[in-house]
Amino acid sequence: MSLSRREFVKLCTATVAGLGVSQMFHPAIVQAMKEGAKKTPVIWIQGQGCTGCSVSLLNTVHPSIKEVLLDIISLEYHPTVMASEGEMALEHMYEIANKFAGKFFLVVEGAIPRAANGKYCIVGEMGDREITMLELTEELGKKAHAVLAVGACACFNAGIPGAAGNLTRAASVQTIFNEKGIKTPVVNIPGCPPHPDWMVGTIAYALAHGIPELDENGRPVMFYGENIHENCPYLKYADEGTMCETFTQKEGCRMELGCKGPNAYADCFKRRWNNGVNWCIENALCIGCVEPGFPDEMSPFYEG
Ligand code: SF4
Ligand code: SF4
Repeated sequence: MSLSRREFVKLCTATVAGLGVSQMFHPAIVQAMKEGAKKTPVIWIQGQGCTGCSVSLLNTVHPSIKEVLLDIISLEYHPTVMASEGEMALEHMYEIANKFAGKFFLVVEGAIPRAANGKYCIVGEMGDREITMLELTEELGKKAHAVLAVGACACFNAGIPGAAGNLTRAASVQTIFNEKGIKTPVVNIPGCPPHPDWMVGTIAYALAHGIPELDENGRPVMFYGENIHENCPYLKYADEGTMCETFTQKEGCRMELGCKGPNAYADCFKRRWNNGVNWCIENALCIGCVEPGFPDEMSPFYEG
């Protein structure tokens, strides 16, 4: 089954009637993935981060994480999810990277520290030799068909690890590639953490149809193409100047409490979080976690 990009996006954003919940994948998409995408291996590596992006991925609902791992993605290596560990797991990862050189997708979660020759983040050992995240990103990055940088830490200015101070000289995938002259395409899937649909949707799309249309920040337009503020249900309050003084106040805009929605581009307002139960602005505010300036340019998160 082959779908055009337009058909795919339409199905991705189809609304479940009456629930107001965005359903990420139509069963036809899952079927398409079963038929085609699973043939392409995915290697997922983790650097400086909290594993929150992986936890967010595990919360995927449409499709379930079981379907993602068993039917959609041929996930060959993931430090948190895999049962294997140590040299046996690393050997398998290198074997897949060599066997499918130029064909596999590399997912990078977390930042890559450059100080002390990368020794701030050791991701494995082969014999007595320590393997740094820096080395692994470079080695696998050169061989991959494309890299999906998931989460704020792997994108732009390296998110929280790259915030002011940055003693480890944490960097994003694209920064490392620029410094090392690596030309492999990078797709940024920012967020702290990213919505599970953004990760699963981008991976599934890339596996089935190639790299999706990206914006000037390397983000898939299908998920990061709309402004939070312009689509916020509280916009009418912003326009009339009714501002909240507390988060418990339901009628009013959160701008004076520090909301960064005017500077943030993502579809949280319609996709919502936690299987559609709520989203940031409903009970707090937007901290602009999907933007290149996060977190320093978005700080302080809360004001007032
Ligand atoms: S709550 Fe935030 S996103 Fe919503 S209208 Fe106010 S400033 Fe804009
Ligand atoms: S609403 Fe704002 S803070 Fe919340 S996930 Fe979306 S972009 Fe990030």
